[in-house]
Amino acid sequence: MARSINIYPTENSKISQVDFDNIPFGQVFSDHMFVADYIDGEWQNAEIKELAPFMVHPGNLAWHYGQSIFEGMKATAMADGTPLLMRPEKHIERLNASASRMCMPNFPEELFLEAIDKLVWLDRAWIPKEKGSALYIRPLLIAMDDALGVRPSETYKLLIFTLPVGPYYDKPVSLLAEDTYVRAAQGGVGEAKTAGNYAASLQPAKIAKEKGYDQIMWMDAKEFKYIQEVGTMNIFFVIDGKVVTPRLSGTILKGITRDSVIHILKSEGYEVIEKDLHIDEVVDAHKNGTLQEIFGTGTAAVVANVHKFAYENHDYDVDVDTYKISPLLKKYIEELRAGEREDKFGWIKMLGAEVLA
Ligand SMILES: *Cc1c(COP(=O)(O)O)cnc(C)c1O
Repeated sequence: MARSINIYPTENSKISQVDFDNIPFGQVFSDHMFVADYIDGEWQNAEIKELAPFMVHPGNLAWHYGQSIFEGMKATAMADGTPLLMRPEKHIERLNASASRMCMPNFPEELFLEAIDKLVWLDRAWIPKEKGSALYIRPLLIAMDDALGVRPSETYKLLIFTLPVGPYYDKPVSLLAEDTYVRAAQGGVGEAKTAGNYAASLQPAKIAKEKGYDQIMWMDAKEFKYIQEVGTMNIFFVIDGKVVTPRLSGTILKGITRDSVIHILKSEGYEVIEKDLHIDEVVDAHKNGTLQEIFGTGTAAVVANVHKFAYENHDYDVDVDTYKISPLLKKYIEELRAGEREDKFGWIKMLGAEVLA
């Protein structure tokens, strides 16, 4: 596979049009994208070329029946500009798990990793320099058949494109424990990073915003008692010095940041408990003064502090100024991503000119 990606660098770089001190999230795209087609049972036509729109037939199966999955990862840079990736192999592992759930073909791991390396190296000037900022990488796998019918598509397209993003806003968020809508039920597609999960979350998220909360804290689909996760983040609580997070039960997205955070915490000597987490346990901890921190984890925000949650018409406040574990984690991961901390887990991959050789 080593020589299987054809690269067509653009002669019209848009980088001079970008104000790197003020990047609106999700709106600025770097110069190149990776594309590959799945045709006749094989991945082919792997190319890196100028990012551009492409034509899609009105009968496209992804649009009608939702075979569409994605990933979200980041490239960062060391002070000398060397691009870094963190745990890229976990992202292709999860993309393929999502693909299997949605009856889509897996993508070859080696080719994915090679595509990311080459794409990031080619657009390395797009990696913002400021600490906490990054080049966000979005792999997308979609059905491409153009014939209606509820069945798996026979053709697919994999795209990978990148966006420079500034430091994620640090403002603590408020959460509403959702008691009407569900994100995922046992046996459903909650573990897949698939488009429909996010479409389904828009209306409840809008209602939560109207009630004055930033994001939803999803509860289990049966009893609305067990905490699941938040928007695009997994959730952690610090209760009496111990870190507690919902276990991966099949309805929760298997966050890679979640996994990293658990490894870091254990290596720093913290006790981490993964279990079915009943909301009463959190409410009781709040009442008896042992609820010390609430934070979310995800690639975009890394670690986001929660200052309040609402449950059964009560607001429960937490004082983010006293948080210790959440800022420690944020700093740890940002330093890893800047190449400033010993990579004792072997998570960091540095890129050099050899990736294009
Ligand atoms: C992507 C995502 C997360 C976080 O996963 P990371 O791998 O840490 O970025 C959590 N929940 C949902 C629903 C997500 O889509």
